[in-house]
Amino acid sequence: MELRVLGNAGGSAPGRQLSSYLIDGVLAVDAGSLTTTLHLDEQLQIGAVLLTHGHLDHIGTLPFLLIHRYGRDLPPLPIVANAYTHETLGEHLLNDRVWVSLDVATGGDPSRIPLITMEPGEQRRFLKRYDVRSIALNHAVPCQGYWISDGKSDVIVCGDTTTTDELWEVANGIEGLGGILIECAWTDDELARITQHMSPGLLLADLQKLQADVPIYVTHRKPGFEEAVEAELRASGDDRLRYVNDGDVLTF
Ligand SMILES: [Zn+2]
Ligand SMILES: [Zn+2]
Repeated sequence: MELRVLGNAGGSAPGRQLSSYLIDGVLAVDAGSLTTTLHLDEQLQIGAVLLTHGHLDHIGTLPFLLIHRYGRDLPPLPIVANAYTHETLGEHLLNDRVWVSLDVATGGDPSRIPLITMEPGEQRRFLKRYDVRSIALNHAVPCQGYWISDGKSDVIVCGDTTTTDELWEVANGIEGLGGILIECAWTDDELARITQHMSPGLLLADLQKLQADVPIYVTHRKPGFEEAVEAELRASGDDRLRYVNDGDVLTF
């Protein structure tokens, strides 16, 4: 499985792209930078989009992706999310005010862009080869990570979260887990708690719950906090930690 980090920033600045990951060129996780990093032909290859939650840095380019598909003879594009996120899209983004509604984007045929609801703990198969299970996270709005398996390798891609138990319980049960992508946005534990994000202190404490020697890919550092977050984590000496940059290609 090849996972391309299109963007992983927790804020917008030149040279930093918002959260989007692309697996094998076809399965997208989050839509913060799908259309700002992928050429049009690559955008049209995407076969499903998994959304972790409805914050703007994770959904911001979805409207453009959808309208780029308009009038083209393409397979359906499932938009997978929890019900709260789907509601957010419909009420606040694809609402014929901020952008066209889904009804307009699909030309009145909802089967072209089906909204597939997945709540934590549910599992489904996408694109005939990816088994995806949703994992509850702990964020300011209902947010989930995804355990993605292609039958040969397994990876967990998280959305935003602060301290959590369920993620580590699920991870401890996956034999041969290839890696976990998890955020660490700020340096300050208190600010991270208030905004329901991770900081180095919170993440390192949470990692005590992970029994396996699994690579931890640290994502979503806010612009301006990249080096400080990394320095604090490196000081822990936990050699499971890796640091993700936009454009990285990870192989599992
Ligand atoms: Zn975020
Ligand atoms: Zn968020």
